[in-house]
Amino acid sequence: MSESPCAHLAATTSVRQAKRRECAECVKMGAQWVHLRTCQQCGATLCCDSSPNQHASKHARATGHPVVASSEPGERWLYCYPDDGFAEY
Ligand SMILES: [Zn+2]
Ligand SMILES: [Zn+2]
Ligand SMILES: [Zn+2]
Repeated sequence: MSESPCAHLAATTSVRQAKRRECAECVKMGAQWVHLRTCQQCGATLCCDSSPNQHASKHARATGHPVVASSEPGERWLYCYPDDGFAEY
C-alpha cells in the first residue's frame, strides 16, 4: 500500500457508495461479474478487473475518471487507475 496516495486519492474526501448492487453494463449485456466498483466522479457502479468485461477500468480509460471505490460489503478502499494507487478509508 502506498504511503502517499496520489492527488486523485487525496482529493477524494467523501466516498460515493454504490446505488445498486449490480454492474449497469453487464446487466445490459446479460453478462456476469465478480466484484463491483463505484466511480468516484460520476457514481457509476461497474465490474472489477477480475470480471470478464472489466467495465470499471474501461470506464476509467474512456472517461478519464480516475478513482473507484470498492462496492463490496465490508471493503473500504479506493483505487486510482492512472496512478495504480490504493488507499483505505
Ligand atoms: Zn491518481
Ligand atoms: Zn460489467
Ligand atoms: Zn465515472
